[in-house]
Parts: sequence; structure tokens; C-alpha cells
Amino acid sequence: MPYDPTAPWAHVYVGTTIHAPRLGELAIHPLSLMVVNVAGYIARYDTDVDSLRDGADVADYVAQVLAEAPAGRRPAVHHLAPSQFLAPGFIDAHLHAPQYVFTGTGYDQPLLTWLTTSTFPREAEFSDVAHAREAYSAVVRRTLQSGTTTAVYYGTIHAPANRILVDAVWRHGQRALVGAVSMDRHAPDGYVQPSVAAAVDVTRETLAACAAATRRCSASASETDHVDRVRGCVTPRFAPSCTDALLRALGDLAATGGDSVEAHVTDPATPSSEPRRLPIQTHLAETRDEIAWVASLFPEAQDYTDVYARAGLLGATTILGHGIHLADRELRAIRAAGAHIAHCPASNFALGSGVCDVRRLLRAGVSVALGTDVAGGSSPHVLDAMRNALTASKVCAMLARGPPPSPAAPYAPLTVAEVVYLATRGGARAVGHADDLGYFGPGCRFDALRVDLAVGAFVPAPTTSPPPPAGHAHAFAWVPRFPHDTLRDLFEKWIYLGDDRQIQAVWVQGEQVVPMPAP
Ligand SMILES: [Zn+2]
Repeated sequence: MPYDPTAPWAHVYVGTTIHAPRLGELAIHPLSLMVVNVAGYIARYDTDVDSLRDGADVADYVAQVLAEAPAGRRPAVHHLAPSQFLAPGFIDAHLHAPQYVFTGTGYDQPLLTWLTTSTFPREAEFSDVAHAREAYSAVVRRTLQSGTTTAVYYGTIHAPANRILVDAVWRHGQRALVGAVSMDRHAPDGYVQPSVAAAVDVTRETLAACAAATRRCSASASETDHVDRVRGCVTPRFAPSCTDALLRALGDLAATGGDSVEAHVTDPATPSSEPRRLPIQTHLAETRDEIAWVASLFPEAQDYTDVYARAGLLGATTILGHGIHLADRELRAIRAAGAHIAHCPASNFALGSGVCDVRRLLRAGVSVALGTDVAGGSSPHVLDAMRNALTASKVCAMLARGPPPSPAAPYAPLTVAEVVYLATRGGARAVGHADDLGYFGPGCRFDALRVDLAVGAFVPAPTTSPPPPAGHAHAFAWVPRFPHDTLRDLFEKWIYLGDDRQIQAVWVQGEQVVPMPAP
């Protein structure tokens, strides 16, 4: 269902809003009014009411706006507290749902060893559907609570477990791409697909599960637009795990849209000449050892990126995890294809894979999103990915400067405003929602967080220290607030110091999904 400006209004939110509509721009509106319609779209976003500080004037303004509401329903009006703000939901453009079970372990190993000792044995256990049910419910709940309104998941090679992941996403109300991992070589017995046909079959089954969820969404009684909330994604693990025949078969599958499984879902990211091209995700240039291995496996390709391009896997719907060690030619090819890189800095540090120079990617015109890469990254929280992206960029700046007495090289590390963009609108571009997700504006989907900086406190125990005096509890909040703080200061403090506790509400397509019921 496309955005309909005449649809009835469901909710009006009045208070502070913060978002990054353009790279490098943090738009902070102390007092704004946002209308969300019954289909979960933002129908109105007024930010020019900042001067209406007086309560009576705000009430008058809200009354004027309500008088303009379409007929059919009186919306509920919600006033945010001074410690609260609305922000767009986070988009985690790269994480492995089955790896949540061993997150935080195994980081003494480099990538290719870690795959053998940790990843493959743990992923193989998802042949057990009871295990999959427990783990996938946990990862979807955890990421939603962390403010991830959209997740781009890798599953496993098991069709039943992938269906369970799709079902968990659907039931908990998250927006997601879900991919069946494809791999037909260089994996242990019992966790490898025996043929190209077998691998394609599992992908088709997972695509069908997503389409079935979509049909359930369409047939539900809700007025909210969930039609493309859960989508399938073609997912070769990475080139070394796939024969060239498998890569080409997956490229063909992506180009044809998986037959009719997504027939009623149009992809806003693809030009009309490619109406139903499926999303694709894989890994690219994560470590130098991996690149050397790919060069030996695919001698006919110009480079690693070319392996995917030759198989028909490099296009505007492709999300490439990592992209740390890329030649200039590869950046040009990625940009020309309109593909996206999911920058996963926490994983890159944990596995010692390298430091991705995001500034270089951006200067090359490449679209960049952020990923946690659970469990290469230890935290499922996009806030953690943002902090690591800032640190990684500062490392790049220090390396660019060179050892003394080298003159300083011109290099601007990423700013907070830029990483917020990567975590929201940058991710939205990667998942095919360049113009209607990841920021606030009329016609955008209301995937949002209500953050309350008053929640979560470090209060000294009364037995060892007196409690804070009344009226000064803000100083003892987990994200401390003091009179000198501007709204921008407070937002930056939350990016660096915040956690799940301040995320008091999460909406996906206008439906509130956090707080959630007990499992
Ligand atoms: Zn990964």
C-alpha cells in the first residue's frame, strides 16, 4: 500500500525530534509535531513550531492541526516529556541471526579460523528446530529492544530454521531481510550443501516463507501497511564458500525475482527495467587472507568484486558486508552498480580484520550502511556499531597523519551526525527504502524510537552514600544531564553512553513493538 495523504490519522506526537536527513546534517527540533496515519506513514511533520514555547500556544497549535485532520477518526495526541525525544529506528544492515548464540566468544582467532572453530559448528546446530525457535526469538527480541527496527539477517543452510526466523521477525513486528545462507564447498561435512540445486532449493523455500509472511500481513485485520515488511534475500555466504556455478545460479535467481514469490511486492530500489530483482547480501574483502584465497579460487576474475559482478550478483539491491580492502577499481564498480557496503567496525576490530576507511568509500560515491555483524561483532546494538565506526574513522585519521615528523594529511574523520545517517538513512538506502525510511518527513514510514534520558540511573547505595537530593536525579542518570547541556550535547551523550534502557518505545510502520510482552 503506497502512502495515501488522505488516509485517516492515528497518532499525533508533540515534542523533540532528532534525525539525520542528509549525510553530515543532524536536524534537531526542540518542539515538533508529527502525525502518523493509520497505515503507519508520517502524514505531517511540522518543525517550525519551535517558537511556541508557551503551553497554551502549543495547545492552540495542536487544536488547529487536529481541525485539519481527514475525516473518519480522531487521532490520539501524545506529548513527549522534556527528557524524551523521537529518533528514526536503527537499521542493522548485516548480522547473522544464528551466531547470536555464541556472541562474545572466540575473538582470539582470525576470521578464517574463527569460521571453522566457532561459526560452522554452532550454525550446524540449527538443524534442531527447537534450538532455532529459542535462539531466533531471542535475537529478534534483543535487536528490537535495542532499537533495530530493520535487520538484514543471514540465516543458515536449513530451510526449517530459516522459516522459524521469518516467523519470529513477523510475530515480533520487525522489518527485515532474511537470507538462507548458500554454501556448497569449503565447509565441514554436515554443514555444507551437496549441490547447486540443493542450495537454490533452500533459498527458494526461504523466499517462499517470506512471501507467505507478506501474504499474512496483507490479509491481517490491521490497517497498517506491512506488505513488504519481511523480504527474502539471496545470500551466498562469501565467494570461497560457493562454487562459480552456485554463484551464477543465485545471480539468476535474484534477477528473475525468485519466480513469483515476491510477485506482489515491488522493489522501490530497482529501476523499472528490473521490476522484481531480489535483495542480495554477501561478504566482500574482509581480510587479506580471504582476498588471496578468492584470487586463487577465481583466477579468471579481475578481483574479488568482479567475482560477484560476473555472477550477476552486483547490483542496486546488493549489500556487501565489510569491504575493507578494496582497490579503486572495485570502488568504481560498486558505485556504478549502485551496490551498498555494510560497514561492520566492531567485528573488524574483534577479529582483527582491518580498519575500513569509510571516508574513502564516501568520497568514491559508494553507498554505506552500518552493521553489527553479530557474532563477528559482540554487540547486537547499533549504538555500539556507531561508536566503533567513530573510533575506526579516528584510527584512519591517525594513520593518514603518519608518524612524526610527517606533515598532517588532510583527513576528516566521521562525525556523530554522519554515523547517525549511516545507521538510519544510509541503511534505508541499502534495504531499498531510499526515500521513505530512516528519517522523518511526510510520506516516510514511521519506524521510530522514543528515547528517555531520565531512564536508567546510577544511584549510590544509601548505605554508603546519601541518595541524590530531590530535583538533582538527572546528574545520576546513566546519561547524565546538566544545565549547560544543549539538546545536541544530550543526543551525543546518548550515542556514546546510552543503552537499551533509554529506548522506551519502538515503532515499526506505526505499530508499537516495544515494550513487548514476556516470552
Ligand atoms: Zn558477516
